[in-house]
Amino acid sequence: MNFEYTEKSKDLQAKVERFMQEHIYPIEQDYSEWVEANPWQIYPEMERLKTLAKAEGLWNLFLPEDYGALSPGLTNLEYAPLAEIMGRVIWASQVFNCSAPDTGNMEVLAKYGTPEQQKAWLTPLMEGKIRSAFLMTEPEVASSDATNIETSIVREGDEYVINGRKWWSSGAMNPESKVFIVMGKTDPTAQRHVQQSMILVPKDTPGVKIIRPLRVYGAMDSPEGHAEIELNNVRVPASNLLVAEGAGFQIAQGRLGPGRIHHCMRLIGAAQRALELMCKRVAKRTAFGREISKFSSIRQDIAKSRCEIEQARLLTLAAADKIDRFGIKGAKDLIAMIKIVVPNMTCTVVDRAIQMHGGLGVSQDTPLAGFWIYGRSIRIADGPDEVHMYQLGRNTVKQLVTNH
Ligand SMILES: Cc1cc2nc3c(=O)[nH]c(=O)nc-3n(C[C@H](O)[C@H](O)[C@H](O)COP(=O)(O)OP(=O)(O)OC[C@H]3O[C@@H](n4cnc5c(N)ncnc54)[C@H](O)[C@@H]3O)c2cc1C
Repeated sequence: MNFEYTEKSKDLQAKVERFMQEHIYPIEQDYSEWVEANPWQIYPEMERLKTLAKAEGLWNLFLPEDYGALSPGLTNLEYAPLAEIMGRVIWASQVFNCSAPDTGNMEVLAKYGTPEQQKAWLTPLMEGKIRSAFLMTEPEVASSDATNIETSIVREGDEYVINGRKWWSSGAMNPESKVFIVMGKTDPTAQRHVQQSMILVPKDTPGVKIIRPLRVYGAMDSPEGHAEIELNNVRVPASNLLVAEGAGFQIAQGRLGPGRIHHCMRLIGAAQRALELMCKRVAKRTAFGREISKFSSIRQDIAKSRCEIEQARLLTLAAADKIDRFGIKGAKDLIAMIKIVVPNMTCTVVDRAIQMHGGLGVSQDTPLAGFWIYGRSIRIADGPDEVHMYQLGRNTVKQLVTNH
């Protein structure tokens, strides 16, 4: 494996870094304060920043080159360091139209959407004019096993009728969120992995009711939010179905590959920034007559953090490289590995940085508390750690024990 970045990637890294220095870091704190004070509203500067990023060619960089004309032409390996730079500020990726859950949803529409579905939803999403949400998880069932999903999608003439309750629908609170990809069952009597289907539901369809935003460790994550949603006799045209009845599970598997790797790339940026912040902090404070950076335990924590970040980064690059060469299916073990390793590494490194900052570390005056919440949430979202370990353990036994 050769992880030397291409000239194209290096050029874009320099551009994204410069953009962050000029336009994002100076307003990082202001953004956080503003969205906290003005829930479910869009930060006034956001449109101007998106227009600037688009004008500089820093737009939709996430969509891999296999998508032809829709893609800006990067491989996953070329995109990884760009997502890492964006991940250094918790909200920055949306400025480049590279934020979750829209990236995963755009990839679903690019891969599986009909021309009509793409025109209605993919085009405005790729232009950054609307946002979207992905509705799979349900409060009543253990949703880490997607076969448990109970929402019903029933065909009636030219329409489907949808009934169910969802929660943790990230992005659904956003006033710009206009379309949901809903997973439910079209045939609960079919074989276990073909009972599920996915269907496009415009947010303003009668019967769609936002019950409440859920908080993550007390944070609203405004303006995106994570909604609990009731779907009560929601009727949409039959043409809103993605692919075919029974294809839901297959689409879900394909969607979560890119989603997982993008989160991991961004989390590495968060961990790297936490390392930089911890170093700066301990180099300028004194306790018990010594600069804090001179205590052995502090140096060990800094050294361990640096090792762990680099290990996670290389594993993520290996996964990106494997996706480029063998697709999501061929890279599934490495994707599981990074999904287990990176959020845990981020929590550990950020926690050390918080400790070294003392009281400041848990306050709103640094990005650390937000980074920790992000890392901790991703240990659950897109499949909890244990589910990935369960599957990776099973695959490993299969691969290493002949005739198993
Ligand atoms: C911040 C955030 C954002 C999210 N965004 C979205 C979104 O946009 N759309 C969406 O549909 N969902 C989203 N989710 C939901 C997330 O994907 C689910 O919470 C997750 O899949 C787990 O499902 P569950 O909550 O029903 O937990 P359960 O399935 O009830 O699992 C609970 C626990 O059981 C244990 N467990 C489960 N299986 C195993 C196993 N095989 N071995 C050992 N232990 C096991 C694990 O400890 C697991 O955490 C989000 C969640 C969070 C926290």
